[in-house]
Parts: sequence; structure tokens; C-alpha cells
Amino acid sequence: MLDALPNRPDLPAEIARRRTFAIISHPDAGKTTLTEKFLLFGGAIQMAGQVRAKGEARRTRSDFMQMEKDRGISVSASAMSFDFREFRFNLVDTPGHSDFSEDTYRTLTAVDAAVMVIDGAKGVESQTQKLFEVCRLRDLPILTFCNKMDRESRDTFDIIDEIQENLAIDVTPASWPIGVGRDFMGCYDMLRDRLELMDRADRNRVAESIEINGLDDPKLEEHVPAHLLEKLREEVEMARELLPKLDPQSVLEGHMTPIWFGSAINSFGVKELMDGIGTYGPEPQVQRAQPREIAPDEKKVAGFVFKVQANMDPKHRDRVAFVRLASGHFIRGMKLTHVRTKKPMAISNPVLFLASDRELAEEAWAGDIIGIPNHGQLRIGDTLTEGEAIRVTGIPSFAPELLQTCRAGDPMKAKHLEKALMQFAEEGAAKVFKPEFGSGFIVGVVGALQFEVLASRIEMEYGLPVRFEPSQFTSARWASGPKTALDKFIAANKQHIAHDNDGDVVYLTRLQWDIDRIARDYPDVTLSATKEMM
Ligand code: GDP
Repeated sequence: MLDALPNRPDLPAEIARRRTFAIISHPDAGKTTLTEKFLLFGGAIQMAGQVRAKGEARRTRSDFMQMEKDRGISVSASAMSFDFREFRFNLVDTPGHSDFSEDTYRTLTAVDAAVMVIDGAKGVESQTQKLFEVCRLRDLPILTFCNKMDRESRDTFDIIDEIQENLAIDVTPASWPIGVGRDFMGCYDMLRDRLELMDRADRNRVAESIEINGLDDPKLEEHVPAHLLEKLREEVEMARELLPKLDPQSVLEGHMTPIWFGSAINSFGVKELMDGIGTYGPEPQVQRAQPREIAPDEKKVAGFVFKVQANMDPKHRDRVAFVRLASGHFIRGMKLTHVRTKKPMAISNPVLFLASDRELAEEAWAGDIIGIPNHGQLRIGDTLTEGEAIRVTGIPSFAPELLQTCRAGDPMKAKHLEKALMQFAEEGAAKVFKPEFGSGFIVGVVGALQFEVLASRIEMEYGLPVRFEPSQFTSARWASGPKTALDKFIAANKQHIAHDNDGDVVYLTRLQWDIDRIARDYPDVTLSATKEMM
């Protein structure tokens, strides 16, 4: 077994065994394939391939989903739970496309660690880099999987150097690949002194694992051809000299990432990675909140909404709020307080996401993700507690980078449009601003594709054709300050003022110059590009 955990020894066992994480990667690096293998080894599915098959069946249910499929984007995130050895893994899926970065950002607030998947031939790609930077903002521990080692891949030292340099993180090899491309035969397990040999004949079979006694063990010669063995010995010796040793504390602090080499499609290296997540990954962490932090082992239940997904089942216009439990032991039927409205909510039909099927959650612990079906009461950033007025913080909303005016095709349907847009705003799919002057709504998104997605969803889900048109504005900033100063500012800038779906004041403009001018003319008014969701 691997070294003992540097985690907290006093956590209840049910909480201590939980590992809640996301996978970050560039499209095509192998996230879906790796997820399938996780589920396979987690006993959640019988056969690899089900994730994709189910995913596609779901997607073809609607045009919107079809569009998503056509573009190869996974818009909808979900959570999956499965057991592996003594651990309970909660894997939260992140949407892969850069247009949806805000969604991804919020998903990453719900996990304690990330697995970074890179393609052995391509190294650190743009999307990986961006997502990594988001993880870094929160000092999330990162474990790295270098995939597709069965193909021609780059030199092992090169890959490690690139990660160290581009991402400014220490990299320590947890395994070392033997041979490349066609000659790739497996890895030397640097942590356990074992030889792991890939089975090329059966993709779902776990590698053969052979215990050896260090690199000088003659047993190696029986399994590894002489030229590869010589190279392996040389490289491992060099690696041990030049690269940092695994330091579990440094991994937990996010300063060091262990890297495993493997091939997800061949099920190779996946179990070692899972062992690594269990052993070196963090248990549920303390959650930032106001007026105090929430510790996972507190007796009382607290949780927060990090994602809302509408119309998961088109037959019922339901929404599912994805809640990360920050503390306690949740039991189905519990009454929790919805802190924003101070109203009690009986959580009678929460769902756990076991593999890709939903299942009623009878109980859940800190670290788990549960889905709460609701009719719109639950919004992103909301906190649920057993009564205490405490609010989880750090779930931001970003100013949109693209603005367009949205009008109903039929002007009589303006009220319907407002309702539809408000729903999407609450879901976090777009920012919706109602200008003080003029008609229509101004909708803000991060990526242009989202306008198309919205238009087709409004048409499909509300039977309402809409038009998006260029807006005279290009930037939005939330305005705040003492009431008198704010009122004066609003009165003097009416043609630039709008309100978001929470009623907060927004300043719209086309010119950076305007924003600078406000800062000069109204020193008590703050214009901000982010807002805390609450
Ligand atoms: P995602 O876009 O990151 O979810 O990537 P996928 O899991 O869909 O994989 C992208 C492509 O790479 C697919 O065609 C996979 O079959 C292929 N792939 C995934 N893992 C491996 C691997 O270990 N070796 C090889 N050769 N191909 C792989």
C-alpha cells in the first residue's frame, strides 16, 4: 500500500473516505474515456461505453442537445458517485468548452481536487492551461494523468518539464513509462516498486502487476526487453536525481502534482491513478462562508448550490439544483432552511447520481453532491442549513463579455420572454439586464455560441421564437455604493442603467473611457466586473 494519509485523523470515517473531484482537460485528451474507466473500476457500470451511449441517448432528445452534440460540446454537467476500495468518489463533470467557463468555474468551487488529463503527444494545451489557472485560484490539489501513451508520445522528461514550466507547479513522477507508441508496454510504479504491464489484447482488462525488488531485480529482465530496460533504468535514475520526491503535504497544498502515465482506452494506469486519488487526494475540506467557515465534521448539515440544471426531463418542467454538502450527515426527508429566503424546505426527494442513473438519496455526507428537484426556489450560490444564517461565499458571477438585445418575435409575448429569460438567468446560463430606458432585454454571455443555445432553448422550452440583435453596449459592470451616492449616479446616467435579475444595479457602456470617468466623477460608487452569487 501507499504511504499513510496526511489528512485529518479525527474526521468521521464516512467523511474521511470521500474524494470529491473534477477532471480538467483539453477536448479530446480522453476525459470521457477516463470517466468510463473510473466507473467501470468503481463497479458503477458493467461495461465501458455506457457513459457515451447513455449520454448520446439523452442528447438526441432535443434540438438543443443535438446542437450540443453536433458541436461536440458537453454543455450539461453532472455528478457521479462510485466506490473504489475503501473510498467513495464523487466525480463532478465539467463542461469542456471555453464558452462555458463560468459554469466550469462554479463547478470547481464544489470539488476538493482536480485530475488533469493531458494527451501524451500534445502536452499542456490551451484549455488545460485555463482550467488549471482556475484551480490555482483556489489552491486545489491536482493529480495528473498523461494519457494515450499507447500512441507516439513525447519524451517523458519533456512532458514533465512542460508542465513544470507552463503551470509553475512541481511535478513528481508516480509512474514511469516503458517504451513509446507501438513499443509502449507499461509502467514502472515509482511509488510501490512494481511493474505494471499493459494488456493490448483486452482493453477492459486491468494490467498485470508484478512485484519487483527495485530496478536491479533480475525479474525485470524476464518481462522487459534489454534495450527498453536499459533506458528505463537510466531514466528512472535520472528522474530520481533531478525531479522532486513525492511530498503528500505539498500535493494537498496544490504546489506539487504527481503524474501517472497510462492509456485510458486500454484501461492502463487508471487503477493506479484511482489509488493515488484515494491516498493523496484531499478529504472534504473546510468551506469558506460568512460569518464563519463550515467544517466538514460539524454535526449539522450545510450545503450550497453550485449548479442548476433546468429541464433535465422535458416532460416535467423540473429543475435540479446540484448541492455540495459542506458538513454533516444528511438524511432524506430532512427539513433544511433556505438561508436566502429564510424559508424551511423539506428535502424529500433528493437524488444521488450513481453512475449515469439518478437514484433517490437516502443519506449523504459532507463531500457528497446531491440533486434537489425544485420549481425554481433554489439558485446558484444559495446555502441550505439546519437553521443557522450562514452563507457560503466564493461563488462568483462574472460580467459577460458579449451583450445582445433580445426581443420576442411576437411583441405580445414580452411577458413570456421575461419569464424565460429570468429562468436562464437563475440557472446561470446568461446574464439578463432590464434597461431603465427602452424595451427588450439585454442578454450577456461569455461566448457567442450561448446566444444560439439560448434562442433554441427559449423556442423549444417556451414555444417562443426570439431575435437577438446587436446591442449598443459592449460592457456591463455591477454598481454599488452608499445609497445617496448610488442614487445620484443612477439619476445622472439613466441611459446606461439597467437591473439584473436580482434587482441589482448594472452600468452598461461601450467605452472603457466611460468606466474610467465614473471612477473619477463618482468616487463613492464602485463598478465591478464580478458579483457574489447569493
Ligand atoms: P474527451 O474529449 O477528453 O472526453 O476525450 P474522449 O475520451 O472522447 O477521447 C477522445 C478520443 O481519444 C477518442 O477517440 C478516444 O477513443 C481516444 N482515446 C482516449 N483514450 C485513449 C488512449 O489511451 N489511447 C488512444 N490511442 N486513444 C484514446
